[in-house]
Amino acid sequence: MPGQAINATLDLEGLEVIGVVAFGDLIELVVESRFDAGACRSCGGLAPEPKERPEVLVRDLAISGRPVVLRWRKRRWRCTYCHSSWTEAHPQIPPRARMTLRFKAQLASQAAAQGNFSQVAAQEAVSYDTVARAHKARADLVRQRRSRPAPKWSSPDSADTVDYAASSVVTSSCAHLLSY
Ligand SMILES: [Zn+2]
Repeated sequence: MPGQAINATLDLEGLEVIGVVAFGDLIELVVESRFDAGACRSCGGLAPEPKERPEVLVRDLAISGRPVVLRWRKRRWRCTYCHSSWTEAHPQIPPRARMTLRFKAQLASQAAAQGNFSQVAAQEAVSYDTVARAHKARADLVRQRRSRPAPKWSSPDSADTVDYAASSVVTSSCAHLLSY
């Protein structure tokens, strides 16, 4: 399978595919980051040097119906000034996560749409529990947003003060979360 075609579909900002390995039906993409280390989190020093490359395996969206695992060769940085070290992170891959956030969101959407967790688990080659956890995480998030106090509306001559700007912000952010 040409690496270029897969690279085009990975679409995870800052990560580049450097190798593709197929294990039967499974596709493993070896990825490395291309973003800057940034400043040291302890002293703000701007000259960290790479120290190690710990690898993590995370599930990601299927390609042409085939399950995909990312083998991310993360960089571990060491500050040249204060010698503290840290491992890089990616917004789609929380620390210790075993799947990308977009894959988890997709499992939750499919579980909600199909209502059959076993079927989604089989389709995506994950366990039933993984689907159930993704579904619960999304349901919890939606519930959390819904249980926020509703914006308080009142007539202009009411003694209550109403922060219209803040209310509209809350409303639009809820709409955004519920629409995915
Ligand atoms: Zn430092």
